[in-house]
Amino acid sequence: MYLPDIETIARDDLRRLQGDRLGRLLERLQGVDTPFWRDKLAGVGHTNTIEGLASLPFTEKQEFRDTFPYGMLTVPLDDVVRVHASSGTSGKPTIVAYTAEDVKVFAEVNARSLSAAGADRSDIVHIAYGYGLFTGGLGLHYGVEELGATAVPASGGNPGFQIELMADTGATGLAATPSFALILAERARDAGLLDAIRLRWGIHGAESWSEGLRQKVEEAWGGDYDACDIYGLSEIIGPGVASECRENKGGLHVFEDHFYPEVVDPETGEPVAAGELGELVITTLTKTAQPVIRYRTRDMTRFLPGDCPCGRTSRRIARIQGRADDMLIIRGINVYPRTIETILMEDSALGNNYAIVVDRRPTLPELEARVELSSPASAEDTEAVATRLRARLMETIRLRVEVKVGPPGSVPRTELGKAKRVFERTDDTDPLG
Ligand SMILES: [Zn+2]
Repeated sequence: MYLPDIETIARDDLRRLQGDRLGRLLERLQGVDTPFWRDKLAGVGHTNTIEGLASLPFTEKQEFRDTFPYGMLTVPLDDVVRVHASSGTSGKPTIVAYTAEDVKVFAEVNARSLSAAGADRSDIVHIAYGYGLFTGGLGLHYGVEELGATAVPASGGNPGFQIELMADTGATGLAATPSFALILAERARDAGLLDAIRLRWGIHGAESWSEGLRQKVEEAWGGDYDACDIYGLSEIIGPGVASECRENKGGLHVFEDHFYPEVVDPETGEPVAAGELGELVITTLTKTAQPVIRYRTRDMTRFLPGDCPCGRTSRRIARIQGRADDMLIIRGINVYPRTIETILMEDSALGNNYAIVVDRRPTLPELEARVELSSPASAEDTEAVATRLRARLMETIRLRVEVKVGPPGSVPRTELGKAKRVFERTDDTDPLG
């Protein structure tokens, strides 16, 4: 553990610390004389307890765009030592700024994440996240140095070169997206380098992944490789908002002495019942250049109950279940396409392509999943796959989903750009036809 005093702090002490930090943050923000902060905090009173947070306004992604590039700063630009940006699918990117203190916190939470995944100062860490405006590469890089381990800033691309470098440098840890970690493992196997690379652990984030993919990554690297999830977003700080510990994979500790988490109903903004699925909202308690109050991440998760065997006392959240904007409401039940995808992708008989059709012709909409086999099978075997997927979906999302299993290549592919997975059906023509 990198900072045992703070990471195992008693819950009551943590709550007091969070309240103090919130109070100090508010006091400072109320003195910032810019249009954004004057509007945001108009009519807001003071509080120095976490209970008082609920009376504060939310912050939305759109506000970053509206104030582009520096309208949300709370310090003079002279005090900013770095900016990152997240790419927007349209229009301007989102700019995020850091003071020297913010950079230090950024390094600290990444060091804590790496340590939770099994890293220590003896490690040689191969960083295959992109370096640049994206926060992944530099975020993990500073974390590795903060921990006192050795950083190899490989950045993205060129897997053939990367696996040779990993063997030559003696890499013991890997920071990469889960999909790239799998590509590197497959290339290493094909090149006969798997035995020469001695990875013990990996830290994998920046894209959504499932337990099925974790198993694949861990098996591909072999031995006792631990693949841990790391969560973050540039509007908060970058990677290192929350991270899995290797003792208890399947949930992520939120570094809540810096980032206070809430889970709310995405429609009403009210807190959900304990352990229910909702939208993650984060307040940055210690950020100085560009703090946010109650930022709506649009990421859906739930708090996990119970103490963690690793000894960390911070709350854990479930792996991100999807985006609030993607939610479907089917017969009164909230369904996320990501949840359905996870179930479909865990079935080894299926290929990687699928589609979800929302049939709106009946009074109450119905859900249909179209999938394809990874290799040809008899009609009997095909029906068996459909039957087990229906049962699995019913068990998980408590909705009857009509599953249609076709031969390999039967689900139409998106030719350009991001794959379209969800289709609406309002008349008798097939939206996939
Ligand atoms: Zn833990």
